[in-house]
Amino acid sequence: PRLFVETSLAAGAVLPLERAQANYLLNVLRRGEDDPVLVFNGRDGEWHARVRATGRKDGELHLVAQTRPQTPPSNLHYLFAPLKSARLDYVAQKAVEMGAGVIRPVITRYTQGDRINMDRLQANAVEAAEQCGILAIPDFAPPLRLPEALAALEPERLLVFCDEDAPIADPVRALSAAADPGRPPAIAVLVGPEGGFSDEERGLIRDRPNTVALSLGPRILRADTAAVAVLALVQAVLGDSR
Ligand code: SAM
Repeated sequence: PRLFVETSLAAGAVLPLERAQANYLLNVLRRGEDDPVLVFNGRDGEWHARVRATGRKDGELHLVAQTRPQTPPSNLHYLFAPLKSARLDYVAQKAVEMGAGVIRPVITRYTQGDRINMDRLQANAVEAAEQCGILAIPDFAPPLRLPEALAALEPERLLVFCDEDAPIADPVRALSAAADPGRPPAIAVLVGPEGGFSDEERGLIRDRPNTVALSLGPRILRADTAAVAVLALVQAVLGDSR
């Protein structure tokens, strides 16, 4: 098992387990005295710990040694128009798995459900990080309307705009040509809502300098599918400059 904890990690530290974590470890996974566990907190790398059960539903972890040093956060930003809750959970998990370092909801004209439960997004991110060996939990940036979200991007950051109306072209070539070969990639990807972007929004995005409008093929994808496709493509072609 691999657990996210809030506390600082150092050799010899003793971490009391939160009740839910103790229950998960001791009763669901049936781990007991002295069993090994990996822990991380997003700051101090990953540590090998041993379980000490202090009751049926209480326990602590004794840190033994660091197994991996902390990795720097990824420089890949994922901008998305919020979707309905269950699909949002999926998108948050996949964005973490695919190495997004900053996740920002963007409110657009056709966004459905602009009440975003950021705690729920965060919980999904932690779960994905626990399962996928990720050390840095992404930063959840507060929601912004589209014009402000575009303005908040550094000018040198390449924006990969997922646009079902863009001409279908070799995406590997399009990304390689758009990225500056002289510097490590600083990229944001933007995926629209279920209803797509309005023409006005599309114009606004395309007019931003340092933006590439990318087609993901001849079919209209659901926003959550487009998110996974574009993040995999960007990681495969350019990486996230970790
Ligand atoms: N325009 C359609 C509509 O009105 O329902 C579909 C929007 S699509 C479901 C949601 C988002 O996924 C789009 O805004 C776009 O960012 C992305 N997307 C879907 N299919 C795509 C494709 N073939 N190429 C690039 N992006 C795509």
